[in-house]
Amino acid sequence: MRKLGQTLAKGFNEKGWHWWPSDVSSLSQDHDGRQKCVNAGTCDLGCAAGAKGGTNFTYWPILENAGVELRTNSRVAEILVDANTGLANGVLYFDAKGQLQEQSAEMVVVACNGVGTPRLLLNSKSKAFPDCLANRSGLVGKNLMFHPLTGVAGVFEEPMKGHEGPMACSILSQKFYESDPSRGFVRGYGLHSGRSTTPMTFAFWGGYGIDKPIPWGN
Ligand code: SF4
Repeated sequence: MRKLGQTLAKGFNEKGWHWWPSDVSSLSQDHDGRQKCVNAGTCDLGCAAGAKGGTNFTYWPILENAGVELRTNSRVAEILVDANTGLANGVLYFDAKGQLQEQSAEMVVVACNGVGTPRLLLNSKSKAFPDCLANRSGLVGKNLMFHPLTGVAGVFEEPMKGHEGPMACSILSQKFYESDPSRGFVRGYGLHSGRSTTPMTFAFWGGYGIDKPIPWGN
């Protein structure tokens, strides 16, 4: 939590709002050839210590050792289906040169998030699936809801060392998470306190929610 989190926690306590330290998937101890977090705060640019969790550290080395081949700059156009079994048996994809290629597969894993996954399912029309894959309901690609977010920035008299430690992680509260009829809308929101940017970023471009650089002194 460091000083920033402790200061915010004090304010939350005064308001009577419950809070927890944010969970964060960074290592607190050296592990498996990766260094523990050194609180340098450059998580958005990449973690030189290897402390920050990510597929590049946690899964990819294992997969690469197991012989998985990554075809970069390739984009799947369609999931192919075995007409007899109705099971996915490969993909058509455009390779780095834009050439259409076919890749057969025992298993197809689709993990393309809220836009890419429906794109792929809706591109995969066949005799067995005239409404496209996994779309008997007709709802694939509809009712998409993003992750709305708004932020408030605070400036303190005392140095908060807001740039130290994993980004976006300090304390959080779900005090206003539930629906409250007096607010006039259903459901609620979580409060999540993040950190600031690094001093150099702040100096040149500003911090979170403060889109002006700090004034330069002597
Ligand atoms: S603060 Fe972020 S970038 Fe720095 S070591 Fe920790 S996880 Fe990595």
